[in-house]
Amino acid sequence: MRILLVEDEKHLAEAISQILKKNNYTVDMVHDGEDGLDYALSDIYDLILLDIMLPKLNGIEVLKEIRKEGISVPVLMLTAKGEISDRVTGLDSGADDYLPKPFATEELLARIRALSRRKSEVPTTDDLEFGDITLTPSTLMLTKGATEIKLTLRECELMEFLILRKGLIASKEMIIDKLWGFDSEAEHNNVEVYISFLRKKLSFLKSNVVISTTRGVGYALEVNK
Ligand code: CA
Repeated sequence: MRILLVEDEKHLAEAISQILKKNNYTVDMVHDGEDGLDYALSDIYDLILLDIMLPKLNGIEVLKEIRKEGISVPVLMLTAKGEISDRVTGLDSGADDYLPKPFATEELLARIRALSRRKSEVPTTDDLEFGDITLTPSTLMLTKGATEIKLTLRECELMEFLILRKGLIASKEMIIDKLWGFDSEAEHNNVEVYISFLRKKLSFLKSNVVISTTRGVGYALEVNK
């Protein structure tokens, strides 16, 4: 499980990071809101720990941008003790939980476990659309008009990831992290194979959606005009 930690108090950030690593989480740590947003938009995280008072962009602004991009990663806001208005604003902006500072290690770990459970319990049921196609993750069906084709689970996950990127490039590393997990042995070839499967299915549907390759960078969905 991969966690993004956005906290500008460096000692605190370092301490949290050590605790998480000791508990077998993979942690990326950044110290301001701009970096936090950049990292979060990669959409490779299973959970984000987000401080509210941050340089450049505050936590609430970061959270709003993340949700605006359709990224549904669980977000645990870290807030100074007693700042009730922070708490309310955070939850209004799409935070899943908040934790007042200072907090006990056990409390932090318990909240993280609760949020990661919640995430895995929520199935994706919403249809996703791009160009002339619709992806229904709950049934693994890719549809264009009256024509449909069934995807494998991996193909569906990959298609979903590409659609949620909304035409932005997804690197092979991002795809591997997303589909196989950060510690997996999956290689770039695996990604190429699944991309080619998806391309065949898109052409079977005679869709106007194509997967473009940017050599050495990654893949993106495009609509052929
Ligand atoms: Ca702070």
